[in-house]
Amino acid sequence: MSSTIGFIGLGNMGGPMAANLVKAHHKVTGFDVAPAAREAAKEAGVVIAASAAETVAEADVIVTMLPNGRLVLGVWNEIAAHVKPEALIIDSSTIDVDSARNAHGLFAASGHLTLDAPVSGGTVGAQAATLTFMAGGSKPAFARAEPILLAMGKRAVHCGEAGAGQAAKICNNMILGISMIGVAEAFVLGEKLGLTHEALFNVASTSSGQCWALTTNCPVPGPVPTSPANRDYRPGFAAALMLKDMKLSQDAALSSGAATPLGAHATQLFDLFDKLGHGNEDFSAIIRFLRGGTGG
Ligand code: NAD
Repeated sequence: MSSTIGFIGLGNMGGPMAANLVKAHHKVTGFDVAPAAREAAKEAGVVIAASAAETVAEADVIVTMLPNGRLVLGVWNEIAAHVKPEALIIDSSTIDVDSARNAHGLFAASGHLTLDAPVSGGTVGAQAATLTFMAGGSKPAFARAEPILLAMGKRAVHCGEAGAGQAAKICNNMILGISMIGVAEAFVLGEKLGLTHEALFNVASTSSGQCWALTTNCPVPGPVPTSPANRDYRPGFAAALMLKDMKLSQDAALSSGAATPLGAHATQLFDLFDKLGHGNEDFSAIIRFLRGGTGG
Protein backbone atom coordinates (compact mmCIF):
# COMPACT_ATOMS: atom_id res chain seq x y z
CA MET A 1 0.00 0.00 0.00
CA SER A 2 1.33 3.41 -0.93
CA SER A 3 1.89 5.91 1.92
CA THR A 4 2.59 9.62 2.04
CA ILE A 5 5.99 9.92 3.71
CA GLY A 6 7.86 12.95 5.05
CA PHE A 7 11.65 12.44 5.18
CA ILE A 8 13.94 14.84 7.06
CA GLY A 9 17.73 14.50 6.70
CA LEU A 10 18.64 13.53 3.13
CA GLY A 11 22.40 12.93 3.62
CA ASN A 12 24.60 9.93 2.85
CA MET A 13 22.11 7.57 4.47
CA GLY A 14 18.81 9.45 4.31
CA GLY A 15 19.16 10.37 0.60
CA PRO A 16 19.31 6.79 -0.70
CA MET A 17 16.75 5.62 1.90
CA ALA A 18 14.26 8.22 0.68
CA ALA A 19 15.06 7.23 -2.92
CA ASN A 20 14.19 3.61 -2.09
CA LEU A 21 10.84 4.71 -0.66
CA VAL A 22 10.15 6.47 -3.97
CA LYS A 23 11.13 3.27 -5.84
CA ALA A 24 8.63 1.38 -3.66
CA HIS A 25 5.91 3.72 -5.00
CA HIS A 26 5.44 5.83 -1.88
CA LYS A 27 4.80 9.56 -2.22
CA VAL A 28 7.87 11.09 -0.54
CA THR A 29 8.30 14.72 0.49
CA GLY A 30 11.70 15.61 1.95
CA PHE A 31 13.76 18.34 3.56
CA ASP A 32 17.42 18.91 4.38
CA VAL A 33 19.25 22.08 5.43
CA ALA A 34 21.99 21.33 2.84
CA PRO A 35 21.18 22.42 -0.74
CA ALA A 36 23.27 19.61 -2.31
CA ALA A 37 21.33 16.95 -0.35
CA ARG A 38 18.02 18.50 -1.44
CA GLU A 39 19.14 18.56 -5.08
CA ALA A 40 20.25 14.90 -5.11
CA ALA A 41 16.99 13.78 -3.45
CA LYS A 42 14.96 15.78 -5.96
CA GLU A 43 16.69 13.95 -8.81
CA ALA A 44 15.69 10.67 -7.15
CA GLY A 45 12.02 11.68 -7.20
CA VAL A 46 11.60 13.22 -3.73
CA VAL A 47 9.38 16.32 -3.63
CA ILE A 48 11.36 18.99 -1.77
CA ALA A 49 9.58 21.01 0.93
CA ALA A 50 10.62 24.44 2.22
CA SER A 51 10.92 23.39 5.87
CA ALA A 52 10.64 20.45 8.24
CA ALA A 53 7.16 21.62 9.23
CA GLU A 54 6.01 21.69 5.59
CA THR A 55 7.51 18.21 5.04
CA VAL A 56 5.23 16.60 7.61
CA ALA A 57 1.98 18.48 6.96
CA GLU A 58 0.45 15.78 4.72
CA ALA A 59 2.50 12.80 5.88
CA ASP A 60 1.13 9.52 7.26
CA VAL A 61 4.65 8.45 8.19
CA ILE A 62 7.63 10.67 9.07
CA VAL A 63 11.26 9.50 9.04
CA THR A 64 14.20 11.50 10.43
CA MET A 65 17.84 10.60 9.59
CA LEU A 66 20.06 13.17 11.32
CA PRO A 67 23.57 13.39 12.76
CA ASN A 68 22.86 13.45 16.51
CA GLY A 69 20.35 13.49 19.37
CA ARG A 70 20.32 17.27 19.77
CA LEU A 71 19.25 17.73 16.14
CA VAL A 72 16.66 14.95 16.35
CA LEU A 73 15.07 16.56 19.42
CA GLY A 74 15.18 19.96 17.70
CA VAL A 75 13.45 18.66 14.56
CA TRP A 76 10.90 16.54 16.47
CA ASN A 77 10.04 19.63 18.57
CA GLU A 78 9.74 21.71 15.41
CA ILE A 79 7.34 19.30 13.69
CA ALA A 80 5.23 18.43 16.76
CA ALA A 81 2.59 21.07 16.09
CA HIS A 82 2.36 20.20 12.37
CA VAL A 83 1.98 16.39 12.23
CA LYS A 84 -1.38 14.84 11.37
CA PRO A 85 -3.16 13.26 14.37
CA GLU A 86 -2.73 9.71 13.04
CA ALA A 87 0.88 10.11 11.83
CA LEU A 88 3.63 7.65 12.81
CA ILE A 89 7.04 9.23 13.57
CA ILE A 90 10.24 7.19 13.14
CA ASP A 91 13.81 8.25 13.92
CA SER A 92 16.47 6.15 12.17
CA SER A 93 19.50 8.22 13.23
CA THR A 94 22.05 6.70 15.62
CA ILE A 95 21.66 8.76 18.80
CA ASP A 96 22.02 8.42 22.57
CA VAL A 97 19.39 6.38 24.39
CA ASP A 98 18.34 9.28 26.66
CA SER A 99 17.62 11.60 23.70
CA ALA A 100 15.72 8.80 21.96
CA ARG A 101 13.51 8.30 25.02
CA ASN A 102 12.99 12.08 25.30
CA ALA A 103 11.99 12.20 21.63
CA HIS A 104 9.33 9.53 22.20
CA GLY A 105 8.19 11.57 25.23
CA LEU A 106 7.47 14.61 23.05
CA PHE A 107 4.53 12.72 21.51
CA ALA A 108 3.35 10.85 24.60
CA ALA A 109 0.59 13.34 25.42
CA SER A 110 -0.73 13.54 21.85
CA GLY A 111 -0.84 9.73 21.55
CA HIS A 112 1.11 9.58 18.28
CA LEU A 113 2.88 6.31 17.48
CA THR A 114 6.67 6.77 17.63
CA LEU A 115 9.63 4.47 16.96
CA ASP A 116 13.41 4.66 17.32
CA ALA A 117 14.76 2.54 14.48
CA PRO A 118 18.51 2.95 13.93
CA VAL A 119 20.16 0.94 11.19
CA SER A 120 23.14 -1.21 10.48
CA GLY A 121 24.47 -1.77 6.97
CA GLY A 122 26.10 1.58 6.12
CA THR A 123 25.75 3.62 2.94
CA VAL A 124 26.03 0.49 0.78
CA GLY A 125 23.04 -1.01 2.62
CA ALA A 126 21.15 2.29 2.37
CA GLN A 127 21.62 2.32 -1.41
CA ALA A 128 20.82 -1.35 -1.94
CA ALA A 129 17.86 -1.35 0.52
CA THR A 130 19.53 -4.09 2.55
CA LEU A 131 19.69 -2.28 5.91
CA THR A 132 18.83 -3.98 9.19
CA PHE A 133 16.56 -1.88 11.41
CA MET A 134 16.50 -2.34 15.19
CA ALA A 135 13.39 -0.79 16.63
CA GLY A 136 12.18 0.50 19.98
CA GLY A 137 8.57 1.47 20.67
CA SER A 138 5.13 -0.03 21.12
CA LYS A 139 3.97 -3.14 19.22
CA PRO A 140 1.39 -1.12 17.21
CA ALA A 141 4.10 1.41 16.24
CA PHE A 142 6.40 -1.39 15.05
CA ALA A 143 3.60 -3.19 13.19
CA ARG A 144 2.72 -0.03 11.30
CA ALA A 145 6.34 0.87 10.57
CA GLU A 146 7.50 -2.57 9.44
CA PRO A 147 6.38 -2.43 5.77
CA ILE A 148 7.91 1.04 5.41
CA LEU A 149 11.19 -0.10 7.00
CA LEU A 150 11.29 -3.15 4.73
CA ALA A 151 11.14 -0.87 1.68
CA MET A 152 14.51 0.50 2.86
CA GLY A 153 16.03 -2.67 4.32
CA LYS A 154 15.91 -6.44 4.43
CA ARG A 155 15.26 -6.95 8.14
CA ALA A 156 13.50 -5.14 10.99
CA VAL A 157 13.82 -6.42 14.56
CA HIS A 158 11.52 -5.18 17.33
CA CYS A 159 13.87 -4.90 20.34
CA GLY A 160 11.45 -3.57 22.97
CA GLU A 161 9.98 -0.32 24.24
CA ALA A 162 11.14 3.29 23.62
CA GLY A 163 14.94 3.52 23.26
CA ALA A 164 15.45 -0.25 22.84
CA GLY A 165 16.48 0.12 19.19
CA GLN A 166 19.23 2.60 20.10
CA ALA A 167 20.27 0.39 23.02
CA ALA A 168 20.66 -2.64 20.71
CA LYS A 169 22.58 -0.58 18.15
CA ILE A 170 25.15 0.80 20.58
CA CYS A 171 25.60 -2.54 22.40
CA ASN A 172 26.24 -4.23 19.04
CA ASN A 173 28.68 -1.55 17.94
CA MET A 174 30.51 -1.66 21.28
CA ILE A 175 31.09 -5.39 20.63
CA LEU A 176 32.36 -4.49 17.15
CA GLY A 177 34.75 -1.75 18.37
CA ILE A 178 36.22 -3.99 21.08
CA SER A 179 36.44 -7.07 18.86
CA MET A 180 38.21 -5.18 16.04
CA ILE A 181 40.89 -4.06 18.48
CA GLY A 182 41.16 -7.64 19.78
CA VAL A 183 41.59 -9.06 16.26
CA ALA A 184 44.08 -6.33 15.32
CA GLU A 185 46.16 -6.95 18.48
CA ALA A 186 46.25 -10.68 17.69
CA PHE A 187 47.61 -10.01 14.17
CA VAL A 188 50.23 -7.62 15.60
CA LEU A 189 51.28 -10.24 18.17
CA GLY A 190 51.30 -12.92 15.47
CA GLU A 191 53.59 -10.77 13.31
CA LYS A 192 56.06 -10.44 16.22
CA LEU A 193 55.93 -14.21 16.73
CA GLY A 194 56.66 -14.91 13.06
CA LEU A 195 53.15 -16.15 12.17
CA THR A 196 51.88 -15.38 8.69
CA HIS A 197 48.57 -13.53 8.40
CA GLU A 198 47.19 -16.48 6.43
CA ALA A 199 48.10 -19.01 9.12
CA LEU A 200 46.51 -16.98 11.92
CA PHE A 201 43.42 -16.28 9.78
CA ASN A 202 43.00 -19.94 8.79
CA VAL A 203 43.12 -21.01 12.44
CA ALA A 204 41.16 -18.18 14.12
CA SER A 205 38.44 -18.00 11.46
CA THR A 206 37.60 -21.66 12.09
CA SER A 207 38.22 -21.58 15.86
CA SER A 208 36.85 -19.76 18.88
CA GLY A 209 38.42 -16.44 17.78
CA GLN A 210 35.94 -16.27 14.87
CA CYS A 211 34.01 -12.96 14.61
CA TRP A 212 32.81 -10.41 12.02
CA ALA A 213 35.85 -8.16 12.57
CA LEU A 214 38.03 -11.11 11.49
CA THR A 215 36.04 -12.89 8.82
CA THR A 216 34.36 -9.95 7.03
CA ASN A 217 36.36 -6.82 7.88
CA CYS A 218 39.77 -8.46 8.37
CA PRO A 219 42.26 -5.71 9.36
CA VAL A 220 45.16 -7.11 7.29
CA PRO A 221 45.17 -7.38 3.48
CA GLY A 222 44.96 -10.82 1.91
CA PRO A 223 42.74 -13.27 3.78
CA VAL A 224 39.42 -11.51 3.01
CA PRO A 225 39.82 -9.82 -0.40
CA THR A 226 36.78 -7.53 0.08
CA SER A 227 37.92 -6.07 3.44
CA PRO A 228 38.97 -2.37 3.48
CA ALA A 229 42.58 -3.35 4.35
CA ASN A 230 42.94 -4.41 0.69
CA ARG A 231 42.21 -0.86 -0.53
CA ASP A 232 44.45 1.04 1.87
CA TYR A 233 41.65 1.17 4.49
CA ARG A 234 39.20 3.23 2.48
CA PRO A 235 35.89 2.85 4.39
CA GLY A 236 33.79 0.78 4.87
CA PHE A 237 32.92 2.07 8.27
CA ALA A 238 34.90 5.22 9.03
CA ALA A 239 36.83 5.37 12.33
CA ALA A 240 35.08 8.68 13.17
CA LEU A 241 31.67 6.95 13.00
CA MET A 242 32.97 4.07 15.12
CA LEU A 243 34.16 6.64 17.65
CA LYS A 244 30.73 8.31 17.66
CA ASP A 245 29.05 4.96 18.48
CA MET A 246 31.67 4.05 21.11
CA LYS A 247 31.07 7.40 22.82
CA LEU A 248 27.31 6.73 22.78
CA SER A 249 27.98 3.38 24.49
CA GLN A 250 29.98 5.17 27.17
CA ASP A 251 27.26 7.82 27.70
CA ALA A 252 24.76 4.98 28.14
CA ALA A 253 27.09 3.09 30.49
CA LEU A 254 27.46 6.22 32.62
CA SER A 255 23.77 7.04 32.79
CA SER A 256 22.73 3.41 33.46
CA GLY A 257 25.58 2.55 35.86
CA ALA A 258 26.92 -0.36 33.74
CA ALA A 259 30.62 -1.26 34.01
CA THR A 260 32.18 -1.44 30.52
CA PRO A 261 35.95 -1.22 31.12
CA LEU A 262 36.91 -2.65 27.72
CA GLY A 263 34.37 -0.38 26.02
CA ALA A 264 35.96 2.59 27.80
CA HIS A 265 39.46 1.57 26.75
CA ALA A 266 38.43 0.93 23.14
CA THR A 267 36.76 4.36 23.06
CA GLN A 268 40.03 6.00 24.21
CA LEU A 269 42.00 4.19 21.50
CA PHE A 270 39.57 5.21 18.72
CA ASP A 271 39.56 8.77 20.11
CA LEU A 272 43.35 8.97 19.91
CA PHE A 273 43.33 7.40 16.44
CA ASP A 274 40.79 10.00 15.31
CA LYS A 275 42.77 12.88 16.86
CA LEU A 276 45.87 11.71 14.96
CA GLY A 277 43.94 12.44 11.76
CA HIS A 278 42.68 8.97 10.80
CA GLY A 279 38.93 9.53 11.27
CA ASN A 280 38.21 9.11 7.57
CA GLU A 281 39.93 5.72 7.33
CA ASP A 282 38.11 2.44 7.93
CA PHE A 283 38.07 1.62 11.64
CA SER A 284 40.12 -1.53 10.97
CA ALA A 285 43.09 0.79 10.19
CA ILE A 286 43.52 0.98 13.97
CA ILE A 287 45.90 -1.97 13.41
CA ARG A 288 48.47 0.46 11.97
CA PHE A 289 48.25 2.52 15.16
CA LEU A 290 48.57 -0.61 17.32
CA ARG A 291 51.79 -1.55 15.50
CA GLY A 292 53.25 1.63 16.97
CA GLY A 293 53.86 5.18 15.84
CA THR A 294 50.99 7.39 14.76
CA GLY A 295 49.10 4.87 12.65
CA GLY A 296 50.17 6.36 9.30
P1 NAD B 1 25.07 12.90 6.85
O1 NAD B 1 25.83 13.97 7.57
O2 NAD B 1 25.51 12.49 5.49
O3 NAD B 1 23.51 13.31 6.75
C1 NAD B 1 22.81 14.00 7.73
C2 NAD B 1 21.98 15.05 7.02
O4 NAD B 1 21.17 15.74 7.97
C3 NAD B 1 22.83 16.11 6.31
O5 NAD B 1 22.50 16.14 4.93
C4 NAD B 1 22.46 17.41 7.03
O6 NAD B 1 22.46 18.54 6.18
C5 NAD B 1 21.06 17.08 7.52
N1 NAD B 1 20.61 17.93 8.61
C6 NAD B 1 21.27 18.35 9.72
N2 NAD B 1 20.48 19.11 10.49
C7 NAD B 1 19.28 19.16 9.87
C8 NAD B 1 18.04 19.80 10.19
N3 NAD B 1 17.90 20.52 11.31
N4 NAD B 1 17.01 19.68 9.32
C9 NAD B 1 17.16 18.95 8.19
N5 NAD B 1 18.30 18.33 7.83
C10 NAD B 1 19.34 18.44 8.67
O7 NAD B 1 25.06 11.64 7.84
P2 NAD B 1 24.68 10.13 7.47
O8 NAD B 1 25.93 9.36 7.16
O9 NAD B 1 23.54 10.14 6.52
O10 NAD B 1 24.18 9.61 8.89
C11 NAD B 1 22.88 9.90 9.39
C12 NAD B 1 22.67 9.09 10.64
O11 NAD B 1 22.81 7.70 10.34
C13 NAD B 1 23.69 9.37 11.75
O12 NAD B 1 23.02 9.38 12.99
C14 NAD B 1 24.67 8.22 11.63
O13 NAD B 1 25.32 7.92 12.85
C15 NAD B 1 23.76 7.09 11.21
N6 NAD B 1 24.42 6.01 10.49
C16 NAD B 1 25.33 6.28 9.52
C17 NAD B 1 25.95 5.22 8.86
C18 NAD B 1 26.95 5.48 7.76
O14 NAD B 1 27.63 4.54 7.35
N7 NAD B 1 27.04 6.71 7.23
C19 NAD B 1 25.64 3.89 9.20
C20 NAD B 1 24.67 3.65 10.18
C21 NAD B 1 24.08 4.72 10.82
